[in-house]
Amino acid sequence: MSAASHPNPLVRPLVRRLHPYVPGEQPKIQGLIKLNTNENPHPPSPKVLRAVKAAVDGRLRLYPNPTAEPLREKLAALHHCQPENIIVGNGSDELLALATRVFVEPQSDVPKNAVSRATVQFFSPSYSLYPVLADIAGARGHPVALAPDFGLPASEELKKARWDFGAALTFITTPNAPSGRGYRPADLANLCAAQRGVVVLDEAYVDFAEENALALALRHPNVLVARTFSKAYSLCFQRVGYFVGHADLIGAMHKVRDSYNVNGLGQVAALATLSDLAWYRRGFRRIIATREHLRRELAKLDFVALPSQTNFIFARPPKFPAQTWLEEFRRRKVLVRWFNYPATRECLRITIGTPAEVDTLLRAARAILALPEL
Ligand code: PMP
Repeated sequence: MSAASHPNPLVRPLVRRLHPYVPGEQPKIQGLIKLNTNENPHPPSPKVLRAVKAAVDGRLRLYPNPTAEPLREKLAALHHCQPENIIVGNGSDELLALATRVFVEPQSDVPKNAVSRATVQFFSPSYSLYPVLADIAGARGHPVALAPDFGLPASEELKKARWDFGAALTFITTPNAPSGRGYRPADLANLCAAQRGVVVLDEAYVDFAEENALALALRHPNVLVARTFSKAYSLCFQRVGYFVGHADLIGAMHKVRDSYNVNGLGQVAALATLSDLAWYRRGFRRIIATREHLRRELAKLDFVALPSQTNFIFARPPKFPAQTWLEEFRRRKVLVRWFNYPATRECLRITIGTPAEVDTLLRAARAILALPEL
């Protein structure tokens, strides 16, 4: 039998075995309330939409700026650093993947006593992409459980849990997803100072939090902070994220990235966003107010809704298993997210929508609660 008719053996064994990352559903059905992928319920600002529309002309035939230089300059001014401290990516996902390529060795390339150099470490639960990135790199994915309240484990607990202080790469989602729990910069600073490898503080949701840890990326040479225009800045569609950190680490990532990794309209949209930050900050305050309203209302319905520093709420529903709630919500045209892992399967993650969407969710929840016990 020729390889052409059964080409599977041509695929690397590592890739054949790979379980890919499963993104949240993007349904085509009209009228669904989409509270499953932490998108912003508000569109980008009118200025951003105008800038993108104005850029759609014959210039689309040209390559964009290869290093997203104007955007890096503006981000550097915002974060009080230099453009050399910044790399922009096709979403922060691209940069998380790039970090594994740049900082982590495949397990097959290191002796058994040097496994830390092939280790991608992360807390569990956190962003479910990290273990997939470790697998793709042929590295050792090393999950370490968060405390039962999703807090950072104390240092004795870390040691007990075989936390690897020498791991080549450690991903920390802060504030945490899917729990929404925030971490104090001082606690993160201690952890970063104790790590000998690279630490990526993934701040995808930080605009909805009270504190951020960006200063750590400029203070510790081994720390990178990941940010994205997707969630807070309503630009998921455009795919723009960035890392901030020491010029040596950022420079190494620039060596490995594709030459034109950030599309032109994405650069235009992100630049216009940075010129309209006051507009976005008003939006964050609205989402935070809706989040606190939802949390109070869920508590009245006997959900155990955790405090959140993000644009979603993680809540344990009453009466029925979380999976049943997921299905019953869907039947009522409300999409939420359920993660079938031991630490998360009793809860639902609910993205903060508009006040009207949140009211619809609450109405659906009351109807589900009125169902007879199964
Ligand atoms: N980090 C976390 C914790 C996320 O939840 C996401 C979105 N799924 C990302 C990073 C990636 O965001 P993007 O690629 O859209 O910038």
